[in-house]
Amino acid sequence: MLFDVDAPEPPDTSALPVAGCDVGISALATMDDGTVYENPRALRTQERKLKRLSQSLSRKQYRSGGWWKAKALLARLLMRITNIRSDAHHQATHRILQGISALGIESLSVKGLMKNRKLSKALADASLGGFLVKLKYKAVRRGISIVEADRFWPSTKRCSSCGYVKQKVSLSERHYHCGVCGFEADRDVNAAINLKQVASSTDETRNAVGASVTPTGVGWTRGRRKIKPNQALIHFATA
Ligand SMILES: [Zn+2]
Repeated sequence: MLFDVDAPEPPDTSALPVAGCDVGISALATMDDGTVYENPRALRTQERKLKRLSQSLSRKQYRSGGWWKAKALLARLLMRITNIRSDAHHQATHRILQGISALGIESLSVKGLMKNRKLSKALADASLGGFLVKLKYKAVRRGISIVEADRFWPSTKRCSSCGYVKQKVSLSERHYHCGVCGFEADRDVNAAINLKQVASSTDETRNAVGASVTPTGVGWTRGRRKIKPNQALIHFATA
């Protein structure tokens, strides 16, 4: 059986404030007000255990009793790593989207970033793609527009106080200091304030913004029929 159920209309959030959020590796998300959502680094904390279990599995004779046991233990640890990550993402996205009408974020090219070998492991561990998917579908449900700044928009280089854009800000520079107006802030907080300003200055209508941020996996196509994000499909599988 296949049911087509209309999801309830998202609430009207237009009176609520706008926020900005910088997504990254060192902190999963930094908000314009300075709130930081830590990255659980699930893989890094479990790495030694993972190595031990993988080695133990490889030493067992294929399909022996001990092999199955070791395989189950390894699968359980991998599941646990996924769960730690997913839990942190759900909690952070839930809190980030509370009490706001719009959220400015940077449109991250996760695939492009993965090409950086120095960062790829930490990036994969942070699973930013999964975080952004959750952030977007929850925003649609709650009537919050997500405003994505262009990938080349200088959210880290720009001074959020006077608008001056620095030539270069290295990854190790954790603190933003503006030589023009003297503004000082944490690097990520400065970026988040910039993204908040992008979200505030967007004059597009709510619908226009909402349409541009249809998250992957929500508006998918089934046959030739496009399913709108505010409709949910419920599958009932009968044995
Ligand atoms: Zn400045």
